Amino acid sequence: MSRGKPKGAKGSKLLRVLKAEDGRAPDPSSLRGDRMPCPGLWKTPVIRWDGELMACCADIDGEISVGSLRDATFDELWFGDVMTNYRMLHIEGRFEEIPKCWSCGGINFYKMSAEEVRAYLDENGRLDLWPAYTDRMGVSA
Ligand code: SF4
Repeated sequence: MSRGKPKGAKGSKLLRVLKAEDGRAPDPSSLRGDRMPCPGLWKTPVIRWDGELMACCADIDGEISVGSLRDATFDELWFGDVMTNYRMLHIEGRFEEIPKCWSCGGINFYKMSAEEVRAYLDENGRLDLWPAYTDRMGVSA
């Protein structure tokens, strides 16, 4: 039984942009819309055969490798500065700053709830980003 194509794959705004007939590149900020932070960055770490920790299950080429488990612990990498920066960029809707994520479109068959995002911002002392997030995503504060 087929589960069909993930929504993220057909929902990528970049793919639609690449197909635009006028050929002009739009301002990335105009494409942020209500694209949710990708839950892969919180929920699906992948460890490659050689010990590299990938930021998500879609990164089989290691474009957004977080580092090697030969050099650091899982917690140091998964909860460290690189992953925190990736997650904050997604919360802010700055997907274009991570090319792999920009072209991917994200995982949509499971999600980060608004409560999870708020709790993450709180844990990291970044509740200042919450109002802009609720505005962008159209969720109540
Ligand atoms: S947007 Fe794509 S590449 Fe980025 S974390 Fe999500 S699944 Fe991975």
